[in-house]
Amino acid sequence: MTKRNRPWGYQDPIAPSHPKWQLHEDTIAVRGGLARTGFGETSEALFLNSGFTYDSAQQAEAAFKDETDHFLYSRFANPTVTMFEQRLAALEGAEAAFATATGMAAMFASLACLVKAGDRVVASAAMFSSCYVVLTEILPGWGVETVLVESGDKDGWRRALSQPTKAVFIESPSNPLAEITDIRFVSDLAHKVGATVIVDNVMASPILQKPLSLGADVVMYSTTKHIDGQGRVLGGAVLGSKDFIKNHLIPFTRHTGPSMSAFNAWVLVKSLETLSMRVERMWTSAFAIAKKFEGHAAIESVNYPWLKSHKQHAIAKKQMAGGGTTLAIRFKGTKAQVFKFMNALQVIDISNNFADAKSLITHPSSTTHRRLSAEVQAEMGITATTVRLSVGLEHPSDLIQDIEQALKVAFK
Ligand SMILES: *Cc1c(COP(=O)(O)O)cnc(C)c1O
Repeated sequence: MTKRNRPWGYQDPIAPSHPKWQLHEDTIAVRGGLARTGFGETSEALFLNSGFTYDSAQQAEAAFKDETDHFLYSRFANPTVTMFEQRLAALEGAEAAFATATGMAAMFASLACLVKAGDRVVASAAMFSSCYVVLTEILPGWGVETVLVESGDKDGWRRALSQPTKAVFIESPSNPLAEITDIRFVSDLAHKVGATVIVDNVMASPILQKPLSLGADVVMYSTTKHIDGQGRVLGGAVLGSKDFIKNHLIPFTRHTGPSMSAFNAWVLVKSLETLSMRVERMWTSAFAIAKKFEGHAAIESVNYPWLKSHKQHAIAKKQMAGGGTTLAIRFKGTKAQVFKFMNALQVIDISNNFADAKSLITHPSSTTHRRLSAEVQAEMGITATTVRLSVGLEHPSDLIQDIEQALKVAFK
């Protein structure tokens, strides 16, 4: 928690006096990055302003020369957004962060600030469909070569990373099937060929996985998911070293403008305070549901990293602190029966979002992943009878009861 020297008397109230006093991350999530104004407000202030003023022309000149720490314009930085960035960076264990308007803006900026025509990017094959479009349509259209590798295919990663590569993009666990990529293994290979490793850590959240401690260079979030976690605002963030954020990312975002709104940052900085409690409750309920319904007569498989049946269970245990808050369930019957099951749910809502306080269920092949061809869906393990269940904060006994009664309706 760096003390920022603000000209108007900002102060960071947490800087433990004892050198060995390492604040617990739950404390950092409540107090990290907090910068109070002279009014001494308890809660973080919302700076809903686009611009800033200067006492003199000289002060403006010095600010633009980067000689002082004065805010210039909210496209570059805003005090509320900065509090959110600093709190998230402290929680992640990253030197720096930049918050964006959406998760996709974070994903796109993290790659676009690195690559140019002729460069090569290697990515894990199972991923969120918009990330897939960026990697297989948009960047190739600008002359960037993209190579996709199955998450668990070690030889595939070795082959793909045997030649110079600019960036590696890993989504682990993947959305929706919770495929796991060995972040340490891929990062070591990637660094040998000069690649920057970016991890889409959306499915895990900063509570359940810390990619930087596993060798990755950059982490990105859709803060729309667990970090807000209450279905309110869109947002994203890119985290990494000071060098990456200051010398690569910001020179790109400063001029292309994917900045987070101050209002959204204010919602999100407060959300971080409860993130670990929410994620803890959500993932333990998800694990209970996964155990309860694996092996049910109507269910072919339950994909959940903490189940022994998960293909990459051992790697998940090695690199994650919990199994995640969503599970992929493949039913035995028909698409019509799966729809009947979804329609019969009384507590769980049908929605394409996830990581919300409210439990949500999605049918990826007809919604979030519908843009992908049947073959690509099949490669990702998505079938007409696959659903993604995002487990929320309701009491797990009600969720289990809801699933049981809907199973009876659809799979009599
Ligand atoms: C939702 C999501 C994104 C995109 O985030 P938005 O905030 O919707 O733009 C990127 N990656 C993953 C894994 C996601 O689940």
